[in-house]
Amino acid sequence: MYTKQFIEALENRNIEKLRSIPKSDLHNHSILGGNLKYIEEWIGKKIPRLTKRITSIEEMEAWVGKNYIPYVKGTSGFEKAIEAAFIQAKADGVIKLEMSIDVYFRHLYNGSAEELIKALKRLHQEYAPEVNFIPELGFNRSVSQELLIEWFEPYLDYNYFKSVDLYGDEFAQPASKLKQLYRMAKSKGLKLKAHVGEFGDAESIQETVEVLELDEIQHGISAVKSKSVMNFLQRNNIQLNICPTSNYMLSRVEEIKNHPIRELFDNGIKVTVNTDDVIVFQNGVSEEFLLLYDQGVFSAEELDVIRMNGLR
Ligand SMILES: [Zn+2]
Repeated sequence: MYTKQFIEALENRNIEKLRSIPKSDLHNHSILGGNLKYIEEWIGKKIPRLTKRITSIEEMEAWVGKNYIPYVKGTSGFEKAIEAAFIQAKADGVIKLEMSIDVYFRHLYNGSAEELIKALKRLHQEYAPEVNFIPELGFNRSVSQELLIEWFEPYLDYNYFKSVDLYGDEFAQPASKLKQLYRMAKSKGLKLKAHVGEFGDAESIQETVEVLELDEIQHGISAVKSKSVMNFLQRNNIQLNICPTSNYMLSRVEEIKNHPIRELFDNGIKVTVNTDDVIVFQNGVSEEFLLLYDQGVFSAEELDVIRMNGLR
C-alpha cells in the first residue's frame, strides 16, 4: 500500500508528501512524544532544542527534567502531553501507534487504572480517532519487581493494554529479577517488549529475550556485534523497533550513514523505524525515513519494506 507514492516522496525529498503516507510508530514514550509546535503554542514559550549529542539516559532525563517536565506536571499536564503525542502521530501520518504509558501514571488518577484508561480513550477519540492506537504499559527498570507488580495488577481487569515495555537504565537490574512480572504479562496475553542492546552488549540481548520471553526489542542495535545473536534474532523472528536519531543523539552510533540498522536488515532481521522521544530528538517517523535515505543507508525501495514491516 502506497509503495509507489512513498518511493517517489523519498526520491523527491518531499517531507509533506512523506507525512501523508501511512506509517507506524512502535517505539514511542507518549509524554515525550508530543508535537513540539503544539506544546509550544500551548505553553506560549519555546522549548530549547537539544543540539549537542549526549551520552546517557541520565543526561537525557536531566535535560527533559529541566526543559520540558515543568510544563506537563500533574494530571492536566499529563493529558496535554498525551494530547500532543496524538497530534504528532496524526500530523506524521502514523496510522499504527504503539505508545507506552508508564504503569505509575494511574497515580495521577488517585490510583485508578479505570480513570486513566477513560482519559486515554477520550484523548484518542478527541485528537486522533483515525489512528490505530495500541496502548502499551511501560515499566521503569529502576523500580523493584515487587512494586512494579503492585502498580501493574489493577490494569489487568480491563484488557485495555496490549503490550508491555521495559525502559530506563538498562543496567539497573538484571532481567532475571523481572521474570515474574513478565510471566504475569504473558499469561494475560500481552505482547512482551523491552529496551535492550541500546547501551548493553549483544549477549545481553539474547539473554533478555530468553529470560523474559520477549516478542520484540526496543533498539537492540548492539546485536550487530555478534553474528550468532543476529542469527538468533532472525531465527526467532524477533523484531527490532529502532530509533536512528535517538541512537545518534545518545552517542550510540557515530554517524547515521553507518547506522547498524543496515547490517541488521541485511542479516534478515525484521526492523522498523520509530521516533523514541520527539520532544527531545525532534524528528517524526517521516523525518527518520528521509534521514536514512539521504544518508544512503537504504534505497527508497528498502525503506518501503521497512515501512511495511511496521504496518503488519
Ligand atoms: Zn525508547
